[in-house]
Amino acid sequence: MITYNKTIEVWTYNLPAGRTCPASSAWCMENCYGRKGRFRFNKVNKIQLQHVEQTKQEDFVRKIAAEIQRVHLFRFHSSGDFYSVPYLEKAVDIAKKCPSTCFCIYTKTWRLNGRYNEALMKLGSLENVHLFASCDPSTEDVPGSWPFRIAYSGQNGHESLPCPKILEHSTCNVCRYCYKPGGHVYFPKH
Ligand code: SF4
Repeated sequence: MITYNKTIEVWTYNLPAGRTCPASSAWCMENCYGRKGRFRFNKVNKIQLQHVEQTKQEDFVRKIAAEIQRVHLFRFHSSGDFYSVPYLEKAVDIAKKCPSTCFCIYTKTWRLNGRYNEALMKLGSLENVHLFASCDPSTEDVPGSWPFRIAYSGQNGHESLPCPKILEHSTCNVCRYCYKPGGHVYFPKH
């Protein structure tokens, strides 16, 4: 189920970019790297579509949690996002089942209200989860009431760390800034 991303040196679980991104922006559509490079290969697309089906299965939480429990760092989605509230709620259950794993999650679903917001509050409140509201030059500002961290794409945010992966060709496994308590992050356009 989960995949080792050699570029960032972290285990990930990916879904198809765009079709699983209910809060995507105009900037995403133009710049999202989930729509570029190896993510465009048919084989990768096929696997990501299979993942969407996996997320709907009854034993999904149990199966993926058993894999994630074996890794130290895990990122939900190098590609894709929480396409539904039930899937987001499953992410909460998964993170609870893996207390020794550090989760890093960037999501634009903070732009959706109601039940999305309730589930995000639960997810971001877990000690092993580092949840970032992802924003870019085409989104509205993240509300001041957002209690977690912010990831600024394509724009330098307030007191944010420029990502060393992009500027210094480091990896997340070396840096780990987003996998431990800290501030906001800035991803220059690349
Ligand atoms: S700041 Fe560090 S941990 Fe976060 S994405 Fe960049 S390299 Fe990875």
